Amino acid sequence: MKSALMLVDLQNDFCHGGALAVHDADAVINVANRAIELCKVHEMAIIATQDWHPDDHGSFAVNAGTEPWTTGELNGLSQVWWPVHCVQEQPGAAFHPQLEKQSLDFVVRKGQNSGIDSYSAFFDNGHRAATPLHHWLKGNQINRLIVMGLATDYCVKFTVLDALDMGYQVALLEEGCRGVNLSPNDSQQAIEQMQQAGARLITLSELA
Ligand SMILES: [Zn+2]
Repeated sequence: MKSALMLVDLQNDFCHGGALAVHDADAVINVANRAIELCKVHEMAIIATQDWHPDDHGSFAVNAGTEPWTTGELNGLSQVWWPVHCVQEQPGAAFHPQLEKQSLDFVVRKGQNSGIDSYSAFFDNGHRAATPLHHWLKGNQINRLIVMGLATDYCVKFTVLDALDMGYQVALLEEGCRGVNLSPNDSQQAIEQMQQAGARLITLSELA
């Protein structure tokens, strides 16, 4: 059984000064770099996801003619309307400059289809199309994932829930996660939901 570290959306737009900045997000970059170092000692694969939208993406409030941070429906699915963020090839979509990018073995990009949002690293929000992630993990005999990143209550949560649903063992590195918290308890509820689905909470010290 092999393991991988999965770093979710450690991109400029989710960090300080970004278009969709998550509170205290920059604090997780050091956690990520320490986790990379520890996981490499154990010869684990290092994977990162990138939100990677075309500029006409349907989740952008401006494209829906609505206000950011409100909710509505996009092609039959419930949708939070976001500020324009993580546009392909733009600086906001790049990894945080302090992230040890040279250690990444595989990068999964998601959210390229304008008509549907994609929080999970495995599928779009309607489970209509899959990313290459599952295929890559199977090809590398990986069935255990250590997950951390941004944001706890969206892309981390849906990545973890899909992974558990597909039979992966999942450990959540909680100190490496920060949430959007449209409602104040969203991140806490997301963590409880992931635990109830079978995720184990771990700390950096357990990776040493
Ligand atoms: Zn997005």
